[in-house]
Amino acid sequence: MIAEVIINSTVKKLDRTFDYNVPVKLAGTVCVGSRVQIPFGSMKHLEEGFIIGFKEKSKYKLKDIETIQEGFCLSEENIELAKWMSRRYFCNLSDCIKMMLPPGTTTKVIKNRIREKNLKFIYLKKNGEELELEKIKSEKQLRAINFLKENDGILQTELEVFADISKSIINTLERNGYIEIIEKQVQRNPFLNKKIERDKELVLTNEQKIAYECILETMDKKIFKEFLIYGITGSGKTEIYLQLIKKALEKQQSSIILVPEISLTPQMVNRFIARFGERNIAVLHSKLSLGERYDEWQKINKKEAKIIIGARSAIFAPIYNLGLIIIDEEHDSSYKSEMLPRYNAKDIARYLAQKRNIPLVLGSATPEITTFYKAKKEESKLLTLTKRANLSNLPKVKVVDLRQEFQNGNNTMLSIDLYNAIKENLKRKKQTILFLNRRGFSTFIMCRDCGYTVKCKNCNISLTYHLKENQLKCHYCGYEQNNMKVCPECKSNKIKYFGTGTQKLEHQINKIFPEASTIRMDVDTVSKKNSHEEILEKFKNDNIDILIGTQMVVKGHHFPKVTLVGVIAADASLNIDDYRANERTFQILTQVAGRAGRENLQGNVIIQTYNPDNFSIECAKKQNYDMFYEREIILRRQLKYPPFCDIILFGISSTEEEIVKQLSNNIYVELINNVHEEEFLITKPMPAPIDKMKSKYRWRIIIKGKVNDRIVEKIQQILQKCYKVTNKARVVVDINPINML
Ligand code: ADP
Ligand code: ZN
Ligand code: ZN
Repeated sequence: MIAEVIINSTVKKLDRTFDYNVPVKLAGTVCVGSRVQIPFGSMKHLEEGFIIGFKEKSKYKLKDIETIQEGFCLSEENIELAKWMSRRYFCNLSDCIKMMLPPGTTTKVIKNRIREKNLKFIYLKKNGEELELEKIKSEKQLRAINFLKENDGILQTELEVFADISKSIINTLERNGYIEIIEKQVQRNPFLNKKIERDKELVLTNEQKIAYECILETMDKKIFKEFLIYGITGSGKTEIYLQLIKKALEKQQSSIILVPEISLTPQMVNRFIARFGERNIAVLHSKLSLGERYDEWQKINKKEAKIIIGARSAIFAPIYNLGLIIIDEEHDSSYKSEMLPRYNAKDIARYLAQKRNIPLVLGSATPEITTFYKAKKEESKLLTLTKRANLSNLPKVKVVDLRQEFQNGNNTMLSIDLYNAIKENLKRKKQTILFLNRRGFSTFIMCRDCGYTVKCKNCNISLTYHLKENQLKCHYCGYEQNNMKVCPECKSNKIKYFGTGTQKLEHQINKIFPEASTIRMDVDTVSKKNSHEEILEKFKNDNIDILIGTQMVVKGHHFPKVTLVGVIAADASLNIDDYRANERTFQILTQVAGRAGRENLQGNVIIQTYNPDNFSIECAKKQNYDMFYEREIILRRQLKYPPFCDIILFGISSTEEEIVKQLSNNIYVELINNVHEEEFLITKPMPAPIDKMKSKYRWRIIIKGKVNDRIVEKIQQILQKCYKVTNKARVVVDINPINML
C-alpha cells in the first residue's frame, strides 16, 4: 500500500504530496488523517506529515513510513474542505489539515491531571521570538520549544506526555532561561463539572416564534439557508438558539454554536447546561489546558456530546450528523483568524452548512455591515426582534462634548458630568465601569480645541503619526504629508497625540476618588497569572467600586450592580486607520452601553467625545442600528469598501530591506500586468504601518475588488513565482483582514 503524505510545513515548496510505502506491520493502523513520521530528503531527523490519501502505484522509488500515530481518521469531506481552504486562504494544505486533527499529538490520556491543586504551567520566555535557538544542540530541547510555540502555557505534565519531554529536559530549559515555570492554583475545566439546576423552556414571544419556526422549517426540509437574527441584547436570541438545539437533539442531530472567545464565560455555558445537562455538551476554548481540550474533543469524536459550544476553531471539530450551525455575535472580529490559516469561521460555517444542507443562523444586536447588506438584498433571511424579552429598560445615554470641557478649563480625563455621576454612584454603593476604547498601536493627532483630526483625502481614514519621519501617513493608499503644529481648521496650537492608557486613567481616578476601590483590566493586567475571567469575578464578588478597562470589559458578563458606564474618549476607535472605524465605534459604544442597568435598575451611560456630531456616536446615543446602517452603507458605496468590494492584502517581509522592496515591486508589476484594472484597484507597494517588526522589514500591497476564482488563481500563480525567486522573504495574502497593521 502506498500513502500520499503531505509534510507538516509552511514552506510553499513543500505544499504537495509525497508518496511513501506503508510497511506491512503498520498496514492495519493507517487511515486518511494519520499523523506519520517519515524520512525526508537528506534530513537526518524524521519529519512529521499527514496522510491524505492512498494509491496502488507510484513511479518513484519509495521510502517507508517510520511510525504512525493511530487514533483519528479524516473524512473525505475534511480533505475536501482543507483543499478548499488552502486555495481560498493561500496557505499550505498541511496548515488546514492541522486544524481538524485532535489537539496535542498523542492519544495517551493523562491521569490525575485535574486532581492536583497547584499545577505547574510552562511558558516560553519572550514569547519565543527572540530566543537564540541556534545555541540549542539537543534535539529534544528544540522539540520542546517548538511544541511550546504552538501550546504556550501548557501544564508540565501535559508537556511530558503530549510531547514526550522528560522532567530533566524541562529543568535544563528553565535553567538556561528559555522557559519559565509558573505555579498556579486551578480549578477543573471552568465551564463544566458544576451542579446547575435544570430550567425549562420559556414560552416564546410572537417575534421569537416567527424566527424559530422559520428556521425550523429549513431544518425539516433539509436544505441550506442562511438567517440573520437581528435583535438587541436581551431580546431573546439565546432562547431561540436553545429551542432550535432541542429540536436538533430530537432529530438525533448535533448542533454547534460559535461565540466570540471573550464571551465564552461560565455564565454563558451554564444556560446550556441548565437546559440540556452537562453530558450532552462539549466546550472548546483556548483557555482550557491542552489536556482538557483533548478530552472535550474526544467527547465530540466519540459522539458523546451533541452540543458543541466553542470559539472560532471549534468549527473544525469532528461533529457527527451536524444539523444546525449558530454563530452568535456574528459581528465579532474574533471569527477571523489573523494567523495561518487566515480563515474566517463564518466562511467555513457557510461552506459546511451548504454541503450538509442545514441552516446557518447568525445572530447579533449590531450585525456586521456586510451581513446586514446581504440580508437586505435577501441573500439571507432577516429575522428581527424588536423588544426586550424580559421587558427591562434600555439605559439612558448622554453625550458630553470634550471640546467644551477643555474650553471651560477642565484638563482632566473626566468631564463634570461624568465626575458627578461617579460621585453619586459611589454614594449609592453602585458599581461603575470606565471604558477606554483604545486600540493598540494607532496614534493619531487631534486638535483639542475643535476636535479636528487629519484624514486622508483619498480614503477618509485618519492619518497615522510616524514618529521616526515626523510624517502623517495613510495606511491604505500611501498618501503622506508633513506633521502639523497648528490646526488648519481653527488655527489653535493645542494639537495632541492620542493613545493614552488605562494606567494613567486609574492613577487619576485614585487621586480624584481616594475613597473608591478600583480594578484595572487591560493587556498588561490580563497576564499569565490573572486571567480576564478572574478580574471580572473579583470586580463582581468583591464589590469593587470602579472597573477600568479596554475592549475586554464589554463582553460576556452580567454585572447586576453596574448602573453607570463612562466612555472616556469615544474618539479613539473613530480614528483608527481602518475603514471599519465607524462600525467598530458604533458596535463598541452600543455594547458598553448594554453593560449598564441590566436588571431592574436604571442604567446610565456617559459618552465623552471630541466629535459629538459624528454619526456613529449620534446613533449609538440613540441606540439605533438601522439609522447607523443607512448612513454607513452610503459611505461604503461611495468610497468602495466592503460589502462593495473585498480587500486583499499582500504582506511582504524579510530581514533584508532590499529584498522586500524588490519583491514587492515584482509582485506589483505582475499584478498590474495580469489583473484587470477596471475590476481591481491596486495600490503601489509601500511600507506597512509598523514597517519593521521583530527585525523584519514589512511592506504591503492592497487590492480592492470582488474576490473571484480568477483573481485567486492569478494570485496563486504569482505566489508560486515569488517562491522560486527567493526564499529569504515571506509573502502572506489575507482577504478582508481585521488588522491592517
Ligand atoms: P439575547 O440572547 O438576545 O441577549 P436572551 O435569550 O439572553 O437574549 O434573553 C434575555 C432575557 O430574557 C433572559 O433572561 C431570558 O431568560 C429572558 N427571555 C428570553 N425569552 C423569553 C420569553 N419568551 N419569555 C420570558 N423571558 C424570556
Ligand atoms: Zn482646531
Ligand atoms: Zn489614503
